[in-house]
Amino acid sequence: RNRIGGIMLRNDQLDQWDRECFFHPSTHLAQHARGEAPNRVIRTASGVFIEDRDGNRLLDAFAGLYCVNVGYGRQEIAEAIATQSKELAYYHAYVGHGTEASITLAKMILDRAPKNMSKVYFGLGGSDANETNVKLVWYMNNILGRPEKKKIISRWRGYHGSGLMTGSLTGLELFHKKFDLPLAQVIHTEAPYYYRRKDLAQSEADFVAHCVAELEALIEREGADTIAAFIGEPVLGTGGVVPPPAGYWAAIQKVLNKHDILLIADEVVTGFGRLGTMFGSDHYGIKPDIITIAKGLTSAYAPLSGSIVSDKVWNVLERGTDEFGAIGHGWTYSAHPIGAAAGVANLNLIDDLKLVENAGTVGAYLRKSMTEALGNHSHVGEVRGEGMLCAVEFVEDKDDRAFFDASKKIGPQVSSALLSEGVIARAMPQGDILGFAPPFCLSREEADTIVAAVARAVRAVLG
Ligand code: PLP
Repeated sequence: RNRIGGIMLRNDQLDQWDRECFFHPSTHLAQHARGEAPNRVIRTASGVFIEDRDGNRLLDAFAGLYCVNVGYGRQEIAEAIATQSKELAYYHAYVGHGTEASITLAKMILDRAPKNMSKVYFGLGGSDANETNVKLVWYMNNILGRPEKKKIISRWRGYHGSGLMTGSLTGLELFHKKFDLPLAQVIHTEAPYYYRRKDLAQSEADFVAHCVAELEALIEREGADTIAAFIGEPVLGTGGVVPPPAGYWAAIQKVLNKHDILLIADEVVTGFGRLGTMFGSDHYGIKPDIITIAKGLTSAYAPLSGSIVSDKVWNVLERGTDEFGAIGHGWTYSAHPIGAAAGVANLNLIDDLKLVENAGTVGAYLRKSMTEALGNHSHVGEVRGEGMLCAVEFVEDKDDRAFFDASKKIGPQVSSALLSEGVIARAMPQGDILGFAPPFCLSREEADTIVAAVARAVRAVLG
């Protein structure tokens, strides 16, 4: 047997089984089956580096899928998981059951969350947490006697998961086409992507006014009494790593308050420190009714997500169960104790090592260095980001910000050149955008390594 208890395999056998047996997510299935996809098998990792089975060591500047926030190989979390699985690998959380780990984690999350938050519902991943959020909002409006108030507003380029509802909320074509999505209850509005819409607005303030006008028009068209909630990521992530223009969130919230529309802050990427503050909501002064958390809650050492609900939401849910009985919503693995133990150890580590602070300072350093190295390149339209998030957007023409023809696949070409330099970044799914979201423990020297490698990769592809 091999080290994970499976059958001892040669690499070529493993590759064959991978092609024949494994249905990979978000993958070109035909290319993979033909052996044309990268097919990298990762074996170990430590700090910001991962190592594949051939011994290639790569600097993971995307922290997996922006989730391994404390970095790889943290013994504290591994030990917490081992202890929890030996003492109690599982018990459910239905009808009021709990474990020490899940109760402790709920308390730790609320201690860190914005003040008006009341309770945490635990799930497994960001997608199911957002499915929960939509159900809670619908349930709430039924309890409040307004069953028509059900539509959810999301932004184009938003990413909220790939379930039926959450894939609908996601505002990226790839996640809709051939899946009969979006569902009818979801409506989309303008993305706060100033760089791409400068043709519309002279200044950031003008562009915010445009976003507000678009939102107002949508609400007017659909009717405020049909709209339950607005969902948004504090910084657009998968849609291109786009921080909002100044004043955007305050202006949007004003509209939502006026029309009694709830705000769901999807903090799956930004929660627990990625912007240099514990939550993105703190960073932008957002006052959400529900917050989605996942990835950084356990730094992906175990699957766990959550919906943090505010007092306002909780009070109605409580009333609902007094009227209608137990809430009919729950997963077998809600509040899984192994995930919860990983979460407790992870949040302690973030505090002990001051990783939120490091995400802010080293993230700012990374962005500044990236801007200095690439800002003047004739095909780099913008270097942007916030906290430990950074993106480089490539354009054919810097003056009119025209994209390269999509068939040239400039983003994927640069990311693959970068991989040859030993650094992993993510070619974002829409547009030629290279995204960076390193672990929070990134050092300045490692940031320098990333920037130097990106500069070489960009030169190799674009001159
Ligand atoms: N919400 C946001 C903002 C995300 O970035 C993601 C995943 O990248 C999700 C939700 C979905 O999370 P998961 O992939 O864990 O279902």
